[in-house]
Amino acid sequence: MILPGATIGVLGSGQLGRMFAIAARRMGYRVHTLSPDTDTPTGQVSDLEYEARYDDLDEIRRFASKVSVVTFEFENVPAAAVDAAAEYVPVRPAGHVLYTTQHRLREKNFLAAAGFPITPFCHVRTLEELQEGIKRLGTPAVLKTAGFGYDGKGQTKLSSVEEAEEAFKSLDGQEAVLEAFVDFEKEVSVVAARGLTGEFAHYGVIENEHSRHILDISVAPAQLPAEVAAEAIEITRSLLEELDVVGVMCVEFFLTRSGKLLVNELAPRPHNSGHFTFDACVTSQFEQQLRAVCGLPLGSTELMRPAAMANILGDLWQDGEPYWPGAYAVPNVKVHLYGKLEPRPGRKMGHLTALAADVTDALAAVTRARKALKP
Ligand code: AMP
Repeated sequence: MILPGATIGVLGSGQLGRMFAIAARRMGYRVHTLSPDTDTPTGQVSDLEYEARYDDLDEIRRFASKVSVVTFEFENVPAAAVDAAAEYVPVRPAGHVLYTTQHRLREKNFLAAAGFPITPFCHVRTLEELQEGIKRLGTPAVLKTAGFGYDGKGQTKLSSVEEAEEAFKSLDGQEAVLEAFVDFEKEVSVVAARGLTGEFAHYGVIENEHSRHILDISVAPAQLPAEVAAEAIEITRSLLEELDVVGVMCVEFFLTRSGKLLVNELAPRPHNSGHFTFDACVTSQFEQQLRAVCGLPLGSTELMRPAAMANILGDLWQDGEPYWPGAYAVPNVKVHLYGKLEPRPGRKMGHLTALAADVTDALAAVTRARKALKP
């Protein structure tokens, strides 16, 4: 067990690392973070911030040699960086988890081979493969770059084979995956953790709404038939097992109109849809990550009250600084800001969480608070 007083290394420096560092420091751990930037959301609340590229292996080794365990908040870290860190200390989740989940094609091949339910897909390297794929999968179809995508970056929806040429050009030589479009009823996710000894804990099913491919609102618990919720949790449990995850992982699902769950994406770290756990659960997803990677017993995931979370994007700054007192005035709403210096459109700057007697009231409160932020 890695006990309080020890130092945890975090690769990546965004809001997930920031909330992890807050949880870790509250429990008496020190935190070092490494990323190519300075004055970052994670760095601002860490004991030490390293500014280095993820392919600067000497700096990664220096960073790893000063900590007891390395985890990450950003999965697009090159395998060589993880291997370099692993020469010194355990990296949790391990490099193979990162390797599978940071690349859509590897992730989909893994999911398909292990028999998890997914939407039909094909590998796209040439224009001919794309045209063939559109014919085979039908339209609409979604073309996604295989590597390094998030929040819908590198995604194009195709409605006909005539659009193939332009879409292929926009890939600019990158490998891609074509997916059959899912006419879903809902999007849901399960955030779960697996400990060093294989113990499993989950936060139930979360219901998510996206806007422009970016998560907008999450509510917990999801409003679903009990058997669908149980199935989502069972799929998540076996995924964490199959991948031998030590840490937190989020599984994003589509729920089709016929009531079938399809796995959309895996994230081997705390997830935006689990931010409500910071305020609404006995143990947040960030504390849970700390517990898992330190080999501590996992904490209770009990939801203290139904909750809703709304993201705050940089767009809100378009007409000036948001009116913060507007959100503070809603008594059951908590305001989280990530310390990002530049509010670009589409950039996640913070979030709001509301707790209430039921999800309808929580959703109403968080929506009202977000509206009240408009300058
Ligand atoms: P992703 O980055 O793959 O999670 O995609 C971001 C969002 O785009 C998803 O949460 C969905 O709202 C939408 N999306 C992605 N793939 C599909 C698909 N095959 N069918 C329908 N909607 C999709």
